[in-house]
Amino acid sequence: MKIIRIEVYQVDLPYAGGVYRLSGGRTYNSFDATIVRVRTDTGPDGWGESTPFGGTYVAAHAGGVRAGLAEAAPAVLGMDPRALDRINDAMDGALTGHPAVKTAIDVACWDIFGKAAGMPVCDLLGGRVAGRIPVISSIGGDTPEAMRANVAGHRAQGFMGHSIKIGASAAEGGPALDAERITACLADKTDAEWFLADANGGLTVEHALRLQTLLPQGLDFVLEAPCATWRETLSLRQRWRGPLLLDELIESEADIIHAIRHDACDGIGLKISKQGGLTRTRRQRGICRAAGLVVSIQDTVGSDIAFAGVLHMAQSTPRAMLRCALDTRSMVTRRTAVFDAPIRDGGAFAPDVPGLGITPNRDVLGMPVAVYE
Ligand SMILES: [Mg+2]
Repeated sequence: MKIIRIEVYQVDLPYAGGVYRLSGGRTYNSFDATIVRVRTDTGPDGWGESTPFGGTYVAAHAGGVRAGLAEAAPAVLGMDPRALDRINDAMDGALTGHPAVKTAIDVACWDIFGKAAGMPVCDLLGGRVAGRIPVISSIGGDTPEAMRANVAGHRAQGFMGHSIKIGASAAEGGPALDAERITACLADKTDAEWFLADANGGLTVEHALRLQTLLPQGLDFVLEAPCATWRETLSLRQRWRGPLLLDELIESEADIIHAIRHDACDGIGLKISKQGGLTRTRRQRGICRAAGLVVSIQDTVGSDIAFAGVLHMAQSTPRAMLRCALDTRSMVTRRTAVFDAPIRDGGAFAPDVPGLGITPNRDVLGMPVAVYE
């Protein structure tokens, strides 16, 4: 089986909640998705997605994904899509870095592999772990009461985890507002729920330590991505009393090894397009498992196709180390594919069908914006 053609599609994904606010005054109304179809000579087609979180989250942006595909896609033409490590080696040989670029092709090749083998992708990624995968909400920065209401709305829909955004500027209210946000969001917490307070790298060490002083004792949450740099993160790690999870600082196996070397965190947010696809996320998950780190399986953002990759990775992750998966579908209003994985009783199952289990909505995708053959 050989790859004979790669089609690239572009879809705008409006944010489901109006305006999404992150630390540092970053705002987002819509996300720019790149969706890839990989076609083979004798086998099935596969689909993958890469949707950066704007251009100010990590070093990735939507125009860069499509520009990078012009470099990476020709390198895999003629290759067997089931040889996933070799596919990634070939992309690395054509383009250094740029994990978001390589993700869409990598995921599409896993989709093909599953369809060709007659197995769900989660079975190929190590085997299905029993049980529903708990899903986590993403609660943009707002007033404490609005954020508490947003958590309640997601709780009513069955979400078991909640990622609440902090990182208020001094003008917005600084550490005091962040302390109020965390306290309000945890006010109705049930024993089964898991909370992240996610600063997306937006805090100084001084801000984080003032926040710690202002918080009531005994709040059960994990601080995520407090600072933008390793220097600040390692400094805070020595003085922060609670568990710490890293996200934006971790894009590669080398980053995870660095974190382990310095005992920098207790868990990692693995995002499929940030890590470089399912092949690399699986490798990085293995390193986390060996080091005893918990993981949250996510993507930066995305639609149904991105969530399919997230859910298959999460469904093959041992439950003792898996906290939650991010249902990217809940963040956007446009459906790029039919994916039969409803949220019920606190979570979702990866569908037991070959491949990812998605059927693209071709009318939403429109015509390809680029073709490599
Ligand atoms: Mg995060």
